[in-house]
Amino acid sequence: MSASILIVEDEAAIHQLLDYNLKAEGFRTRVVETGEDVHMAIADEMPDLVLLDWMLPGISGIEVCKLLRARDQTKTLPVIMLTARGEETERVRGLATGADDYIVKPFSVPEVMARVKSLLRRARAETIVEQITFGDITIDRARKRVMRGSRDIALSPTEFRLLEYLMQSPGRVFSRAQLLDRVWGNQSEIDERTVDVHVGRLRKQLSRGKEADPIRTVRSSGYSFDEKHGVGR
Ligand code: CA
Repeated sequence: MSASILIVEDEAAIHQLLDYNLKAEGFRTRVVETGEDVHMAIADEMPDLVLLDWMLPGISGIEVCKLLRARDQTKTLPVIMLTARGEETERVRGLATGADDYIVKPFSVPEVMARVKSLLRRARAETIVEQITFGDITIDRARKRVMRGSRDIALSPTEFRLLEYLMQSPGRVFSRAQLLDRVWGNQSEIDERTVDVHVGRLRKQLSRGKEADPIRTVRSSGYSFDEKHGVGR
């Protein structure tokens, strides 16, 4: 699936320019015009990179960046700050708030594209060695391996992606439609019951009927990964 870029910019001329050119390069894009809308956009889908304007109405780009860095789920989210031409101090402050890079306006489109691609490459190189661990379950993204305690869990590629996706946002409930979209990628012929079948297989592999089930079924809503599985029960 192509990388997803969240554009946070209130000036229509600029976000349209970015949106158009990023789409032309094959990226998936979303645009929000205020810092207040960032949280919702991220809750809806975690982007691979954020292009964040400094000067926004309401909370500023700097504040947005600080908030992203303060939260576990977004603390390593790649952020490129767009700043007005000028003051070196502002540039430094931009990086001090945790932005990975900054681009000075007015910018050239090829420069933005190059910076976006470069940061995505760097971020991918980092995530590739990343392991996610909750409780006794560890997922190793580089080796496509899942361990429960010392036991290797054999999963199909789809079940691996499903678990990886759920574990990226523990506690969050995903609908079957969302999981289909994110894990299977909009293959319209696939039925939502497919999700139930794969969750069932995933549970079987993870728990073997003995260990605590880390996947929570939320009636009429969907599924979530319970980061506290097996604790305090
Ligand atoms: Ca602005």
